Amino acid sequence: MKDSKPVIGVLALQGAYEKHAHALEAAGAQARLVKRPAELAGLDGLIIPGGESTTFLKHLERDGFFDLLKDFVRDTPTFGTCAGAILLATGVERPHQHSLGAIDMTVERNAYGRQIDSTILRGPTTLPGGDLEMVFIRAPRISHVGDQVEVLARREGAPVLVRQGHLLAATFHPELSVDPRVHRLFVDTVRAHTAPIARD
Ligand code: GLN
Repeated sequence: MKDSKPVIGVLALQGAYEKHAHALEAAGAQARLVKRPAELAGLDGLIIPGGESTTFLKHLERDGFFDLLKDFVRDTPTFGTCAGAILLATGVERPHQHSLGAIDMTVERNAYGRQIDSTILRGPTTLPGGDLEMVFIRAPRISHVGDQVEVLARREGAPVLVRQGHLLAATFHPELSVDPRVHRLFVDTVRAHTAPIARD
C-alpha cells in the first residue's frame, strides 16, 4: 500500500491556525489552510482551531459555509480545539448558540472565569506516555457527554479531550504545547478512517 501523507485542512478564518498546521506537518500530515468552503473538497481531515466561536459562526454564515461544514464533519475526521470544540458540540450553553451538532456533548462557554482565564496544567490522560500538558485559554467546560463519547483526559473531573468515532475535541490548545501526542492521535484517526478506501 502506498503510504501517502493524509491531507488535513486547518480552518483559517481566525485563531491559531498556523501553529496547528506546523503540528500536523510534524505529525506526518500535509496541512492545508482552508479559508473558503470550496477548499474543503478533497481533504482527509480538518482542524477547527481555537479563537472566538461567535466570530467563527459569523464567518461561516457566508456562502453556505456552515451547511457544507456540517455535512463535512458527519463523514470526515475533524478535530475541534477550544472554540472548535464548541462548534462541534450538540449543545452550547452560557449563552446558548448555534453549532454543528456533531459530538454528543454539552459545553458551557467561558466556564472558568469571566475575564481572561489562561492556565497551563498537567493532567492524566489515557494516551500512552504519561501526563499531558494542557493550555487553557478562556476555555469552555464540557458538562455532559453522551454514551458514545470516549473521555481521553479530564480537568477537575470534567472531560477536556474527547473522541466520538472520527471526531475529536479538546477544550485546551494542544498546538501551544510541544507534546505531539494529540496531533498524532488525530493524524492516526485520519489514517484509520481513510485506510479502507483502496487507492491506486
Ligand atoms: N471563549 C471562546 C469561545 O467561547 C473560546 C476560547 C478559545 O478558543 N481559546 O468561543
